Amino acid sequence: MNKIIKFKDLTYKYTDNDESSTALNSISKEINQGEFVVIIGHNGSGKSTLAKLLNALLLPTSGDVYIMGNNTKNSQLLWEIRETAGMVFQNPDNQIVATVVEEDVAFGPENLGIESNEIKIRVEEALNTVGMLEFRNKAPHMLSGGQKQRVAIAGVIAMRPSCIIFDEPTAMLDPAGRKEVMDTIRKLNKDENITIIHITHFMEEAVDADRIIVMEEGQVILEGLPREVFSKVKALKSIGLDVPQVTELAHELIEAGVNLPEDILTVDEMVMHLCQLN
Ligand code: ADP
Ligand code: MG
Repeated sequence: MNKIIKFKDLTYKYTDNDESSTALNSISKEINQGEFVVIIGHNGSGKSTLAKLLNALLLPTSGDVYIMGNNTKNSQLLWEIRETAGMVFQNPDNQIVATVVEEDVAFGPENLGIESNEIKIRVEEALNTVGMLEFRNKAPHMLSGGQKQRVAIAGVIAMRPSCIIFDEPTAMLDPAGRKEVMDTIRKLNKDENITIIHITHFMEEAVDADRIIVMEEGQVILEGLPREVFSKVKALKSIGLDVPQVTELAHELIEAGVNLPEDILTVDEMVMHLCQLN
């Protein structure tokens, strides 16, 4: 299968000579084209550092990162790498640069030197994809958090990336905004076949991932299908992480003697299993 992202023995230290500043400690992974990967792990575990390394915002202290086979250390390929692997951050206000929505979305493709007719087409398509076309002439500061974040996403997809890295894009949003953004991310993955790396601390957002990677102290400590990862309730809790609420409920019911599977992930599954009890 086509590996869009590969990193090998990847180590990152914020200052070269200080062991305590090791943010990533020799991790290796491969991500397939079209995969939806969720990364969880508590504050300081190295998630944002990894995200920045995948976009060549940071370069490895040692080891290598390859985006579509291109090593991020090759400065001549920098724009190609950033075009392939787009990035969306936590705070939409820090990502929106223009005073009109469509101008903001045009900013990325303009920087890539794309000609203006093509930019118009891309901006319209991108805004349509995130469901924000009717806001094209609005001022970004008039929008809700979820709407602003969707505009920021449109700005990234207007550059036609194969892969988007989302670093806690829902952290500052209310539940409605979170849902808007998650629906958009899932749509990009399913309909546009864009590879997604989604960093989050909301466990519910990880339930339908193809793979979950759990990070702790700069290393990958657990990895697998959501069902596999979240069934390890005790291991996750011991490092201060949660599981989806319904998985937690199942776990407590099992401890209380109710006959349920360990790997319930959704409310529908819970209802189904409870209805089968007699
Ligand atoms: P996460 O995104 O999982 O919260 P980070 O990648 O931001 O983790 O941080 C990993 C480690 O690197 C933490 O110990 C953090 O304190 C440290 N770190 C992050 N950014 C910097 C920085 N700019 N300078 C020095 N240390 C940093
Ligand atoms: Mg972070």
